[in-house]
Amino acid sequence: MKYKNIVILTGAGISAESGIDTFRAEGGLWENYPVEQVATPEGYAKDPDLVHHFYNLRRAALKTVTPNPAHEALAHLETGLVKSGGCLTLITQNVDDLHERGGSKDVIHMHGILTSMLCAVCEHRWEHYDDTQANMPCPACSVQNLCRPDIVWFGEMPYHMRRIESALAACDLFVSIGTSGAVYPAAGFVQMARGFNKATLELNLESSQGSHYFQENRLGPASSLVPQWVDEVLK
Ligand code: NAD
Repeated sequence: MKYKNIVILTGAGISAESGIDTFRAEGGLWENYPVEQVATPEGYAKDPDLVHHFYNLRRAALKTVTPNPAHEALAHLETGLVKSGGCLTLITQNVDDLHERGGSKDVIHMHGILTSMLCAVCEHRWEHYDDTQANMPCPACSVQNLCRPDIVWFGEMPYHMRRIESALAACDLFVSIGTSGAVYPAAGFVQMARGFNKATLELNLESSQGSHYFQENRLGPASSLVPQWVDEVLK
């Protein structure tokens, strides 16, 4: 095997063929809602009911979709690398749970996940699969009105950055799949990997804003590109 220690970053493109819409553009719309209303702390402070409603719709939509061959191939890659003494660090910007449902065991959700709630007072987190309301009490500290979806909004610090930086420093190859390269800090991982002298590969439907930073680019739908590439790696 040429590469034993791989870091992968996925974006909305990997879930597109499962039926989850991608994100349009910075300052644009997410599922027809203005981003600043539903994905910023200011939007939440202004209209928490709207924000809960938006994430309730996204959470409910998860029940109608299933992982596609790209999610499944990455789970297969994780098993194959571990068996041969290597490791996969799978980082996703996605807030869906399709990697987990596709069989991946260790997924870093750097922008949070729809199926988790967070209490802004005591920082308790808990799994939650049903609708939420702005006035719901925290199950740990009982304070009302301050429980929010466990999602990293624009202007907030993504999760697990230290673990991600260490993984990039230690890997043999960094791969970006289905992301537009518009949202930082994730968009900067390729430059970080290049700074550590790592090999880099982009798999995307079309050229992204950061395509020129990658040593190799392959264009096409994730559901065929990713299984094909995984087969090559595990050969
Ligand atoms: P993005 O929508 O900005 O970019 C999606 C990228 O995927 C584009 O470059 C597009 O060409 C590519 N793409 C589309 N269909 C594809 C396919 N079938 N195969 C391969 N590539 C395909 O998404 P982003 O870069 O992940 O940034 C969006 C932000 O919005 C993220 O931070 C995320 O938290 C949030 N978001 C998440 C989801 C989700 O959880 N599934 C969906 C929408 C938005």
